[in-house]
Amino acid sequence: LQDRISESFKHLRKKGKLSEADVDETVGEIRRALIEADVALEVVKDFSARVKEKAYGAARSEALNPAQQIVKIVNDELIEILGGEDRELHFARPGKGPTVFMLAGLQGAGKTTLAGKLGRWLGKQDKKVLLVAADLQRPNAVTQLEIVGEQAGVTVFAPEPGNGVGDPVDVARRGLALASGSGYDVMIVDTAGRLGVDEELMAQARAIRDEVQPEEVLFVLDAMIGQDAVRTARAFQEGVDFTGVVLTKLDGDARGGAALSVRGVTGVPVLFASTGEGLDDFERFHADRMASRILDMGDMLSLIEKAQETFDMEQAEKLAGKIQQGQLTLEDFLNQLQQIKKLGSMKKLLGMMPGAGKIREQLDQFDEREVDRIEAIVRSMTPAERRDVKILNGSRRARIAAGSGTTVADVNGLVDRFEMAQKMMGGMAGMAGAGADGMGMM
Ligand code: GDP
Ligand code: MG
Repeated sequence: LQDRISESFKHLRKKGKLSEADVDETVGEIRRALIEADVALEVVKDFSARVKEKAYGAARSEALNPAQQIVKIVNDELIEILGGEDRELHFARPGKGPTVFMLAGLQGAGKTTLAGKLGRWLGKQDKKVLLVAADLQRPNAVTQLEIVGEQAGVTVFAPEPGNGVGDPVDVARRGLALASGSGYDVMIVDTAGRLGVDEELMAQARAIRDEVQPEEVLFVLDAMIGQDAVRTARAFQEGVDFTGVVLTKLDGDARGGAALSVRGVTGVPVLFASTGEGLDDFERFHADRMASRILDMGDMLSLIEKAQETFDMEQAEKLAGKIQQGQLTLEDFLNQLQQIKKLGSMKKLLGMMPGAGKIREQLDQFDEREVDRIEAIVRSMTPAERRDVKILNGSRRARIAAGSGTTVADVNGLVDRFEMAQKMMGGMAGMAGAGADGMGMM
């Protein structure tokens, strides 16, 4: 870490803070990362423009930590595009039931599986749920729903076998009659999908929708389909005008681009995430968690890290000046500790970065409790003591140990190491940045 710091220090020496060019470069990298993650171009453009505008502001301001601010701006904008606050499912008003949820989407998207997951999830909330098999397109679609329903412990309404190809609208109508007559709270209608968008399919879905008047039309979307997500979502929005989105197969290596695209392009919120074939691999969708998933992308992290370094350099430069003049104090050291502590929260984030082996090794050795202990000791000192450790006599040291919940030996250890580091750094004065990250103290 230190090598890298001193290395980049040479380049960034003259840079006091983030410039607009830094922002441009950072946003450029975000753009590339998002496009790589299959986010629709129009969403990427809109997103970059918004981040850029706010980041310019942060770069211009005299804010304490512009790099951190940019990370926050990116995160906030991601959450915003992803839908901000979580939205609950809409249910029929009391006495107006049953509530009807209709599932729509391409073949293989995960509709039938979702019917079971949703059924079980609602069942756990003491709702009486009926699954209705209105996919009569594929020969075994009905059987599949019956199996799923049994696993989920939910009743399934299906057309009687041996009647030839039935009419899905008729099945949906009879399903609704059963649900209304038998006190079901929720009815979930599974529908047919095709491999691609086609008008016949849409017309059928619309006919079912108009027949059962669902509280929610849920568009089920395979998160792995990449750029096709946008085209498909648009077609279904036009075709059935869905009210909510369920993203499936998020257990795969889909990087969340589909979520950004669909929400960005349709404005319809993502309500659930499906994360596996099992019935319990299913959860509410949270915009903030998806934002971190997207931020965890390697490219994104490296750019954040770079921004972080830029900031650290600014501080390091100030410190280097002090070191040269032999003026480094524990006060400065406390500031450095704040920097180091950020590594704690960065640790998890950085650990996920692909190809970060070298940093990871250092991160593994990083002990957050040790930092806390040192910080406690320094905080228990008076400003005068922090500025000049030479005044630390025995009784002062005992007071500091008591105040910080440590021992006199701990205090002595810290003071010794600090004086040694001070000497070392004095000797290296000129080699700017060395030891300025405080690691030498640990
Ligand atoms: P439908 O054609 O839309 O009804 O899709 P299905 O429910 O039949 O699902 C198609 C395939 O995707 C099945 O093999 C499911 O087990 C699988 N599947 C559904 N949801 C998920 C998910 O979230 N993760 C994974 N890995 N597989 C899923
Ligand atoms: Mg199906």
